[in-house]
Amino acid sequence: MSETLENLLQENRQFPPPDELAASANVTAAAYDEAAADRLGFWETQARRLSWATPWETVLDWSNPPFAKWFVGGRLNVAYNCLDRHIEAGRGGKVAIHWEGEPGDTRTITYADLHRSVCQAANALTDLGVTAGDRVAIYMPMIPEAAVALLACARIGATHSVVFGGFSADALSGRIQDASAKVVITADGGYRRGKPSGLKPIVDEAVALCPTIEHVLVVRRTGQEVAWGDKDLWWHETVEQASPEHEAQPFDAEHPLFILYTSGTTAKPKGILHTTGGYLTQVSYTHHAVFDLKPDTDVFWCTADIGWVTGHSYIVYGPLSNGATQIMYEGTPDTPHKGRFWEIVEKYRATIVYTAPTLIRTMMKWGDDIPAKFDLSSLRLLGSVGEPINPEAWMWYRKHIGRDACPIVDTWWQTETGGIMISPLPGVTATKPGSAMTPLPGISADVVDDQGQSVPDGGGGYLVLREPWPSMLRTIWGDDKRFVDTYWSRFEGMYFAGDGAKRDSDGHLWLLGRVDDVMLVSGHNISTTEVESALVSHPSVAEAAVVGATDPTTGQAIVAFTIPRGHVESEGEAGEALIAELRNHVAKTLGPIAKPRQIMLVPELPKTRSGKIMRRLLRDVAENRSLGDVTTLQDSTVMDLIASGLKTGK
Ligand code: ATP
Ligand code: MG
Repeated sequence: MSETLENLLQENRQFPPPDELAASANVTAAAYDEAAADRLGFWETQARRLSWATPWETVLDWSNPPFAKWFVGGRLNVAYNCLDRHIEAGRGGKVAIHWEGEPGDTRTITYADLHRSVCQAANALTDLGVTAGDRVAIYMPMIPEAAVALLACARIGATHSVVFGGFSADALSGRIQDASAKVVITADGGYRRGKPSGLKPIVDEAVALCPTIEHVLVVRRTGQEVAWGDKDLWWHETVEQASPEHEAQPFDAEHPLFILYTSGTTAKPKGILHTTGGYLTQVSYTHHAVFDLKPDTDVFWCTADIGWVTGHSYIVYGPLSNGATQIMYEGTPDTPHKGRFWEIVEKYRATIVYTAPTLIRTMMKWGDDIPAKFDLSSLRLLGSVGEPINPEAWMWYRKHIGRDACPIVDTWWQTETGGIMISPLPGVTATKPGSAMTPLPGISADVVDDQGQSVPDGGGGYLVLREPWPSMLRTIWGDDKRFVDTYWSRFEGMYFAGDGAKRDSDGHLWLLGRVDDVMLVSGHNISTTEVESALVSHPSVAEAAVVGATDPTTGQAIVAFTIPRGHVESEGEAGEALIAELRNHVAKTLGPIAKPRQIMLVPELPKTRSGKIMRRLLRDVAENRSLGDVTTLQDSTVMDLIASGLKTGK
């Protein structure tokens, strides 16, 4: 970026925490002071929330940056912390997971049940020759066995590598090869959009290219016909027959817990490596602090897939280490109807929902009347993660899901950070719609300019992390150099997150999306996020994606792809009028410099499989190029839809 980001969007609304929540919050403002006074001591206190077999000698070894070692010399078992210790405390009968299958089948799994299954799976994996340090690939639908598989690996010290169940055989085999995994755990299939979709055939195709794989362990979920080879074993014939007795051994705090490949929307996937003690410390603490989790009364629901880091940290390790009761849902939000999520909230009396802006904007498009049909009065806290949340989407979430009573925590973090880094604390922070507010206690995030200097309040630039944090990635699997080059070379001594951010006049942080997405219009840096948020602030708009297209006069020009809300007339002349109105609306909201050259009304936007807008493809459309790589698209028909819509919508 040649200049700092422009400071365009103004947001004056602010919402203090509800009194009742503030009065009984797990974490108070004192945490910021404690961490400021003694950052490492603060993290030691959080590490003591866990059960350690051997205490650490040194909290942080940063003698060889950027390679961190946390809780050096400490030993613990992650599965023991997530299961056994709750049972030993007399909580074995407590529900760990209310599982809801897409077709409507359900399972209620207590901590004792989960422990039994994890011990069986640990024994079965051991029988298959898996030992500590071996890699196990996991390619599964959202069924309880997915959580069991992760925890069983953790229990025996095997390093898991979960690959999202929607990825192709190529993506799966690439990841298996990169990690030299020995076993794959999968299922015959899972339910998506009302029908069984096969996973095993994809695994078969992938494994044919992966000589390191010795066994394929298959859960029967759908009962589909599957081909069967000599590496294949049924879960119910192995795991479910294994002994439920298993004593967990402690592992070194820096033992590799998992590898997770970033989705690869930007380049060749990176195998992000997370280790044991620091990771669990931070995800457990942040789950407790940011969601104010009360294990005896809360019903927590994170709607992510286990294939993403959000599923690892806030379905498996965070909630279970805190003894939470949670909901796990197999399917899509519109099956069999568009109110499915809210029906689930009503059914299980969910108190906390953690979801993504893409879902919230989709719900806005579908209409307010859908959540209104359900009793959402059990909810007390809402969370958002994955992309910047547009202020109006935030307001919609607050009003139509949170009945204007629930605080919203907008949580910024990455696969690389392992756990939440920037977020309000629900009992402390007066939130602003669209802002992730402040770094959590013990985290030192900053916004810097090109030269790596902190920007003043009101300025914008690059988001960096100045100090190591417990759940930070330790390296890129097998590629220390790429780890250093990607994250630690842009600014001396700082972690470069790759995201743009601004700090408002109160010092609060606003995430502006990837720096690669920032547009340069007539010499001004304009963030796609801010223009998108201006569009979404118009009552006729549900969702918008903005790109900078090469322009002979302005360098780049703003081109916006906009999805109207469900009730809005957008054909023919009404569409033309809406486009004119939206262009003016953006100019009025952000200033004339941000007025889009062109707005296209489209029925859908291209998204990655984790639901993030893929602006790269839209840039291709805006610049009349043939499309680049579309393999990470969630739905490949979307680009055709957009192309056909463009013929009529311009
Ligand atoms: P890849 O790195 O493979 O291209 P990705 O960055 O989308 O994929 P994740 O690690 O899941 O993969 O996502 C982290 C990114 O998501 C962040 O760097 C940021 O751009 C965005 N993000 C996550 N949470 C927020 C948030 N609350 N506000 C703004 N942006 C967010
Ligand atoms: Mg990323």
